Amino acid sequence: MTDDKHLASSTIAAQAGGAIDHPSGGVVPPIQPSTTFVRDEDYALVRPDNIYSRDNSDIVRLAESILTRLEHAADSLLFPSGMAAIAAVFRALPQGSSVLLQSGIYWGTTKWVRDFCARRQMRLHEVDAGDGAALQAACAEHKPDLVFIETPSNPWLKTVDIRLAARLAKAAGAILVVDSTAATPVLSQPLDLGADIVMHSATKGINGHSDVLAGLLAVADRESAIWAAIRADRHDAGAVLGPFEAWLLVRGMRTLPLRVERMSRNAQAIAEYLAAHAMVEDVYYPGLPSHPGHEVARTQMSGGFGCLMSFLVRGDMAATLKVVGRLSLFHRATSLGGVESLVEHRYTIEPHTGIPQNLIRVSVGIEDADDLIADLAQALG
Ligand SMILES: *Cc1c(COP(=O)(O)O)cnc(C)c1O
Repeated sequence: MTDDKHLASSTIAAQAGGAIDHPSGGVVPPIQPSTTFVRDEDYALVRPDNIYSRDNSDIVRLAESILTRLEHAADSLLFPSGMAAIAAVFRALPQGSSVLLQSGIYWGTTKWVRDFCARRQMRLHEVDAGDGAALQAACAEHKPDLVFIETPSNPWLKTVDIRLAARLAKAAGAILVVDSTAATPVLSQPLDLGADIVMHSATKGINGHSDVLAGLLAVADRESAIWAAIRADRHDAGAVLGPFEAWLLVRGMRTLPLRVERMSRNAQAIAEYLAAHAMVEDVYYPGLPSHPGHEVARTQMSGGFGCLMSFLVRGDMAATLKVVGRLSLFHRATSLGGVESLVEHRYTIEPHTGIPQNLIRVSVGIEDADDLIADLAQALG
């Protein structure tokens, strides 16, 4: 393989990391579904790195190696979902650990971490990590072993200063984990900014076609104790991605930089349109200069601000649901990062999380921006 340190993300992704299937000459990597791998007459493995598919799979390793390069990481591990990746991090912490968790992030993370920390006698503190002073005070007070942030956050689109969080975590002796799902490996490389581990729900932008559930952890220091624990846990406990899913992921990632570029451009145009609309009370999108996290986002995202945004309809819940119901191009569905645009009325799903009744979360796809804006225009009336 050529030294590709200098290659751009789009080149690495388009060529699936340079994978050629030498036995056939195919420019597409093969799927090998075998769960077990043969030994020769001397009982030596035919391929020493392939014993049993709970942790040995060429196509999973290929997907991981592409993501390692896109994230500027030292190593990566794929999991069967984003939540499985998050769970793998927390399971690696000793009993009684102290954890700082960003407040107001992806509800699935908050709920699972609360339950897990309670069961494992871990001290959990939730902090608005978008507020640097609050994060600093929490690090000083709670002496965390782990700081977990999500930027841009889902569904509030808060921006956390990753460099600052890394500095504060390091000073406290903590590991910094960044859920970078909404940024994708194209727009942001948190490990370059000092994070220890970057996490993704690869179900979202990385796969990008709403047809694979997967999660990723990528690490800056592959010799670190926590990485050894995470690696052992995946191998021994078996939270692995199947070969078909890994193959689809590699296939989807070929267009990742292209998709993210288009989605970000569409999202910027839509955010600007919504911000100027009389029926819209507020728009949360880090690409808007009026966004409180815009300046920080500009220093840690490049090439755009992603596909995710939320906005508030000027009106009550009924008026908001009417807008959602009138949309014809945007599908009414959860999730984000796919090629098709989605809207979600979060309050219907999570009324207990303090989400406003008039908030609509949008995942902008790769359709024509003018078509999407026309759909929003007719829905807003
Ligand atoms: C979807 C999501 C997750 C969970 O990932 P799954 O693949 O659904 O398990 C975690 N964090 C963020 C920000 C997400 O959007």
